[in-house]
Amino acid sequence: MAAGPGARAGGARKLLLEDEALRDGLQMESRIFTLEEKLELFHLLARSGLRRIQVGSFVHPGIVPQMADTDELVRAIGEVEGVVLTALVLNEKGLERALACGVRHLSMSVSASDTHSRKNAGMPAEEALETMTGLIARAVSEGVQVRAGFQCSFGCVYEGTIEPDAVIRGTKRLAEAGAAEVNLADTAGMATPYSVRDLVSRAARELEGVLISLHLHDTAGLGLANMFAGYEAGVRIFDVATGGLGGCPFVKGAAGNIPAEDAVNMFQSMGVDTGVDIDVLCDAVLFLEARLGRALPGRMRRVLKGAKRD
Ligand SMILES: [Zn+2]
Repeated sequence: MAAGPGARAGGARKLLLEDEALRDGLQMESRIFTLEEKLELFHLLARSGLRRIQVGSFVHPGIVPQMADTDELVRAIGEVEGVVLTALVLNEKGLERALACGVRHLSMSVSASDTHSRKNAGMPAEEALETMTGLIARAVSEGVQVRAGFQCSFGCVYEGTIEPDAVIRGTKRLAEAGAAEVNLADTAGMATPYSVRDLVSRAARELEGVLISLHLHDTAGLGLANMFAGYEAGVRIFDVATGGLGGCPFVKGAAGNIPAEDAVNMFQSMGVDTGVDIDVLCDAVLFLEARLGRALPGRMRRVLKGAKRD
């Protein structure tokens, strides 16, 4: 098989799912999880076999109080063999906090859309991009592995179409700053299987030597179809959120990420090894549902554990 965007020269790599329930998921919940609850969820996810887990973000606690204890959580988890602990950084203050608590892998993210950037990061997209390249270079010089996120890569609810040219130009600058992986994010849930295929294929051609990953939201019900299209185009790293938690506070009607358990089921059905035990993942869904008091959108928990919540 030819090396796709998820593979460096030297052969295809195994599929990697990054679970973001603790960050993209919990940041949308009005119920704030305690440190102990987050730790319990983290260990369930790690036990399921997930190899990369995003545990939180270093953002202003006044704006996203759900993430206020990310530093503490990173320290409390410490080292877990075989699991890469990662967190989200959007600005300099966040990077300072990340470096101070010793996290070794970061998602550092900007938006392709000017309007979304002003709402989410408080500055125009070009300024945010320029600032972020400096922060990425600094993180890399401190020995942190960085994946650069590009939000709204597949469209923006405020601005409509985002030109693929702009996505390529922006992600190139992030990669040149030192990001080993570029994460194309469908923040608004506007991607379609063909737009995923086309953008991923182009990014793979133009960002040579850089891993391409996908962050997809199931807003329009195309999540798994888009994931499949990305896989067929060669992507081997995907973001998921156990239970299908998540959304975006600045995108009306946004749904969560693709449920981790449903992604695992799809890849299993294709004979692709994810290394994840779907049964343990469904226990994590039960844990979340019990605390949130509602059923989550993922399908496989119902399939494997029945219709009743607990
Ligand atoms: Zn997201």
